[in-house]
Order: sequence, then C-alpha cells, then structure tokens
Amino acid sequence: MPQIRSNFMSRIKVGIMGGTFDPIHFGHLVVAEEAYTSLNLSEVIFVPTGNPPHKKFKMVTPAEDRYIMTCMAIVDNPHFKISKIEIEREGTSHTIDTLREMRHWYLPKEVEFFFITGIDAVLQMTSWKEPSAIAKIAHIVAASRPGYNISQLESLPEDIREAVIPLEIPLLAISSTEIRRRIAAGQSIRYFLPWTVEHYIYKKNLYSLEGR
Ligand code: ATP
Ligand code: MG
Repeated sequence: MPQIRSNFMSRIKVGIMGGTFDPIHFGHLVVAEEAYTSLNLSEVIFVPTGNPPHKKFKMVTPAEDRYIMTCMAIVDNPHFKISKIEIEREGTSHTIDTLREMRHWYLPKEVEFFFITGIDAVLQMTSWKEPSAIAKIAHIVAASRPGYNISQLESLPEDIREAVIPLEIPLLAISSTEIRRRIAAGQSIRYFLPWTVEHYIYKKNLYSLEGR
C-alpha cells in the first residue's frame, strides 16, 4: 500500500497566525511571511478571532469586516490561507480549542503546528486558557516587536519557554491601535497596510470618530 504509507509518513508544518486583525497591517504580514520562509512551513493560516477574551471590554469591529480585510490582505500570497473557525464558534475564542479542532483537518497526515505571535502576545500567554496544553500541541513562534526584548521570554514558565521559537523580523512599529488612532485623528495610514484594506476601511467608515 505505498500510497497510504506515504500519506501517513508525511508531516505537514502549518503556521497559524491568530489575531484580532482590527485592522490587519504590514506588521502581521511580515511576521507571517518571515515565519513561512525561515521555518520552512507548508502554509500559514490566518485565524481572525471571533470574540477575543482579552479585548472583551473594548469595542472590536464586526468579525465579518475583519475577515474581509484579512482576505484582501492575503489574497496575492499563494501560501497564505484564512479560516473562519474562531468567528463561527459560539462564545469566547480560545487558542487551545482552535488547535485541537484543527488537528483533525490534516488526518491521516501528521501535522506540526507553529502558532505565530508577537513577543507581546507570548508574554501574556499565562493568562490564556490551558497555556501548557498549547505548548504541547504547537511550537510557539515569538516574533520580535518594537518595545519588547527576546530576553523577556525568560520570565515564562519552563514548559512554555521550551516550546518557544524566537523569530527575529525586521522591526515594524505598526499596530492596529496606532492605525485606528490615526484614522480617528484624520491622519494618513498609507503604507501601514495594503491599499485594498485602506480603501475598505474608508468605504465602510471604520474607525473614524463618526463611524463608531
Ligand atoms: P492591537 O493594537 O489592536 O492589539 P495589533 O497590532 O497588536 O493590534 P493583533 O491583531 O493584536 O494586532 O496581533 C495579532 C498578532 O500579531 C499578535 O501576536 C501580535 O503580537 C502580532 N503583531 C502585530 N503587529 C506586530 C508587529 N508590528 N510586529 C510583530 N508582531 C506583531
Ligand atoms: Mg495586539
């Protein structure tokens, strides 16, 4: 049975780029592309969060808009994909639930997950649901981000630290918060994010003071 055997033996390396993407910007895209190339991944799946637990008290743009903007941003990259798994799930989104569900997608192949985040997010992992289980299911790729230092990762519990792969990327001091602030202040966001996403934001009047 050579076919079955080769299916069983092959192992796919899948990157998962989770985020609120409110809106998606070049910081996210550079991190995902750098992880794809330097870790030799088969693909990177962008997973916009549905109901982010850590942003519960902030106003978050409707998931459908964030999903559309993410689609627009990744459409020209053949190895970037997107999933609605967290948007469609009822209730609060948790990374561990997403990873457990995604494992079944690749059967009978074996899958190795690389959960891609910025250092700022990794440093908050202990407040997530079942952080130790996440570290068992996936490698945790910690991308550099202005204002954060790789040495800060030493403060993490040992089991999480062991799963972390630090990833140096060209530092981009871009954040969704800064983009939202600029729009509300009437400032330019050109070159912070793909122009298609910029146009979508203006068309839907997202983030402007009147739009909120
Ligand atoms: P916000 O300001 O609303 O928190 P954000 O820019 O941090 O938005 P998120 O959607 O929260 O974007 O981030 C998704 C993931 O991308 C997180 O793991 C975050 O650390 C990472 N990330 C976002 N921007 C950058 C950047 N400029 N450099 C490195 N990592 C980034
Ligand atoms: Mg953030």
